[in-house]
Amino acid sequence: MALEVSEIFHSIQGESSWSGQPCVFIRLMGCNLRCAYCDTTYAYGQGRFMEIPEIMERVRRLRCDLVEVTGGEPLIQAETPSLIAGLLDAGHTVLLETNGSIDIGVVDPRCVTIMDIKCPSSGMTGQNDLRNLEKLGARDELKFVIASREDYEFARDLLSTPPAARCKINFSPVFGSLDPRSLAEWILEDHLAVRLNLQLHKIIWGPEARGV
Ligand code: SF4
Repeated sequence: MALEVSEIFHSIQGESSWSGQPCVFIRLMGCNLRCAYCDTTYAYGQGRFMEIPEIMERVRRLRCDLVEVTGGEPLIQAETPSLIAGLLDAGHTVLLETNGSIDIGVVDPRCVTIMDIKCPSSGMTGQNDLRNLEKLGARDELKFVIASREDYEFARDLLSTPPAARCKINFSPVFGSLDPRSLAEWILEDHLAVRLNLQLHKIIWGPEARGV
């Protein structure tokens, strides 16, 4: 059972409520979307095919409990749910970053799903599968990547729907496009119970760094 892998690396988790924690990242190749602000276009191309036991061994050697499966879009590869289940069975805490366009019902419920809702500036809002909102649990998280006031209002309005209000919410300004201060002020003005997500890894290592 092989998966096409872009990179496996040990770093500091930069996003979500897990931000700041050491984490092993498994970045899988390929994405079914083309967001205007995408910062991982290198995951569109070709990677290296690795069997699940080989991936597990690489992860084991990095000696870190927390593991994130990311992309690209991990769920476009058929074996991704098996990889996640294997990591969970090995005792890891597993996070899945997914773009919200593919059914998350295939993911082991022990996994923490961090799901995007695509805002207008992405050009991909038509790809949001909002049925996924019903499948998120209290440990799961939503992420809105926000580049403009229009994006902010889109995200804020969606939060008033019951399924979205059930899980943790992250608002993430697009690095270099939206001043985090503006987003912080909007959140405070509207008294939103959301988390301002500042992509810690880009602050530490810079926006162009890979494998961090
Ligand atoms: S879903 Fe993620 S990886 Fe895919 S195009 Fe959008 S930002 Fe890039």
